[in-house]
Amino acid sequence: MGMPANVEIGSHVWVEDPEVAWIDGIVINIEQDEVEVQTRDGKTQVTVSLSRIYPNDVEAPSGGVDDMTRLQYLHEPAVLHNLATRYEINEIYTYSGNILIALNPFQPLSHLYDVYAMERYKGALIEGLSPHVFTIADVAYREMIKEGRSNSILVSGESGAGKTETTKMLMRYLAYLGGHSGAEGRTVEQQVLESNPVLEAFGNAKTAINNNSSRFGKFVEIQFDKKGRISGAAIRTYLLERSRVCQISDPERNYHCFYLLCAAPPEEIEKYKLGNPKSFHYLNQSNCYELVGVSDAQEYVATRRAMDVVGINEKEQDAIFRVVAAILHLGNINFEKDEDIDSALVKDEQSLFHLHMTAELLMCDPLSLEDALCKRVMVTPEEIIKKSLDPHAAAVSRDGLAKTIYSRLFDWLVDKINVSIGQDPSSKCLIGILDIYGFESFKANSFEQFCINFTNEKLQQHFNQHVFKMEQEEYAKEEINWNYVEFVDNQDVLDLIEKKPGGIIALLDEACMFPKSTHETFAQKLYQKFQDHKRFIKPKLTRSDFTIAHYAGEVQYQSDQFLDKNKYYVVAEHQDLLSASKCSFIVGLFPPLSEESAKSSKFSSICSRFKIQLQQLMDILNSTEPHYIRCVKPNNLLKPATFDNINVIQQLRSGGVLEVIRIKCAGYPAHRTFSEFLIRFGILAPEILKGKYEEKVACKWILEKMELKGYLMGKTKLFLRAEQMAELDAKKARLL
Ligand code: ADP
Ligand code: MG
Repeated sequence: MGMPANVEIGSHVWVEDPEVAWIDGIVINIEQDEVEVQTRDGKTQVTVSLSRIYPNDVEAPSGGVDDMTRLQYLHEPAVLHNLATRYEINEIYTYSGNILIALNPFQPLSHLYDVYAMERYKGALIEGLSPHVFTIADVAYREMIKEGRSNSILVSGESGAGKTETTKMLMRYLAYLGGHSGAEGRTVEQQVLESNPVLEAFGNAKTAINNNSSRFGKFVEIQFDKKGRISGAAIRTYLLERSRVCQISDPERNYHCFYLLCAAPPEEIEKYKLGNPKSFHYLNQSNCYELVGVSDAQEYVATRRAMDVVGINEKEQDAIFRVVAAILHLGNINFEKDEDIDSALVKDEQSLFHLHMTAELLMCDPLSLEDALCKRVMVTPEEIIKKSLDPHAAAVSRDGLAKTIYSRLFDWLVDKINVSIGQDPSSKCLIGILDIYGFESFKANSFEQFCINFTNEKLQQHFNQHVFKMEQEEYAKEEINWNYVEFVDNQDVLDLIEKKPGGIIALLDEACMFPKSTHETFAQKLYQKFQDHKRFIKPKLTRSDFTIAHYAGEVQYQSDQFLDKNKYYVVAEHQDLLSASKCSFIVGLFPPLSEESAKSSKFSSICSRFKIQLQQLMDILNSTEPHYIRCVKPNNLLKPATFDNINVIQQLRSGGVLEVIRIKCAGYPAHRTFSEFLIRFGILAPEILKGKYEEKVACKWILEKMELKGYLMGKTKLFLRAEQMAELDAKKARLL
């Protein structure tokens, strides 16, 4: 992307730097293809290839520009510098065309979001006000009313970047616009807003990088009536992280609800035989029990209150927390080897106590519970036998039961909230808000990352197509006949993952159905099938890892748990135990299976279910007018006023922001209205300016005088290539 033709001694340029990504400097010497640059701090001189430098716009406003498309040069260092400049003065929002980039301030900026701010942004045009999430919501709302069309707002970013906070702000603003003023009691919008704390209590947890990390994806669909008032809502959730229920490591926490319940008033603690969270295995694997600045006791009360608002009655609330308590007791049941045979027994007095507590809370028979944990029924053609599990297998069975109960409980909550808020069948318009995990690439990547990155590939495709379409429309609007020739799509990655038959998901499902497959046979199959695939790489020195070249970079996946994690079924013994519970709430979570479905032990895969959910989501999104918000975490220390270039670039890349820039640069990245052009370049031909010609004519003459060719002229704007802009600037610099 460099613009070598116009570099001269004295030019202001950006050069790459290993520590801060880009550093600005002045060209002090040029020899053939090499340039010597004196960096701004004056300390270093670097010699780089001509093609590795970018022009730096010295005329850029000192406070940055609120829309990247106004940058004189659209390239990575300019984008980064603009964001950093704005972040320094607490301008956390910046447009990049119609995408909103939101930098996490890591400090409360309450004045940005209060009622006065909402009032200011209401119905306001984008011009005049600083960029804001409210503007995005406002535009979506106005468009919906005006065009009678559904809109969606897609919020993405890595963990801790601010997606959930942004989503809540969007919901609050839409409730403000479409609320029932003066209405009493539980309005739809209150229910929509209060669904947040309920879902967060059960679906959020502290992780190493975010104290309130959502462990599920969420799409909230807000329905509006003809008058533009909120009339219903639907919440869909995706892929709750199940493993967290029984496995955490320092400094993480389990789901908030466990700690809230341990901090409940004494009567309840007594009822559920709870107490110090440190005494529970599912919580004490980590040393973190409390969150700074958060009172679990208060949160418990607040969660109950939010449950009231969303229509979960007291009896149901009691049942919910009884189940939560049961899971804690369940986790404390340990097993040991029976002396004579290699089978599991409940270990000691303590374990027996917890076994009884679990059974009491789940309202099932303790002996049946013990059997369900320690034994499996085997059906052979001759007879039905009960086989004992070994202690390790019994512990796995226990954890499986805990995960199953918890995920059913979470699904129940989501369903309940949906039923109680209610759908408006007559609503024609909706605004959907998507809060979903961004691209993930860790040292170790497993099944979860695979599903998450698959989601992001899907969304990236949707995003690219939209951006591309918008760009092309801009040319059409200006009545310019020009088409992008090359446009890189990620369809090939999507095919690799989801093609049926033959994609990775299909092969995984196949492997899960064959009793003899292992992760190694699965990996071998992948190697064999995709050895020539551009996006698939077999990493050296591993026997079962595989790498996918995603749009945002390569990710190496470890396949060893893929098969287990993909299997979606409830152990029959667990199902039987719980559907026989005396508690109707628990039976509701595990409705007895019909004869047929019990017999046809049809394999169901998490991945395939997810693929269907994702396709349904894409279908909804495709029927809406999308708006994008890219949340960015300026540093990993979660500290205010700290902007880490390298980190931010990585996120702009995964968020597709740099991809948009690439698309724009493949065309004519600089779009300038005639008057904007004259203000900047009129000086090149003062005689033409004096002539009082029509703006368009004046522009044309200047460009002719400068002997520039190959630009495009629309009805109101000029479209220039990046290097043409640089050339004009160089000519101007020579004049001054
Ligand atoms: P994500 O959902 O992307 O993982 P969150 O929305 O949970 O991230 O944000 C993580 C934390 O960052 C929040 O708990 C909050 O402390 C801070 N934060 C995010 N957005 C803002 C904001 N607009 N203003 C102030 N703090 C914010
Ligand atoms: Mg979140």
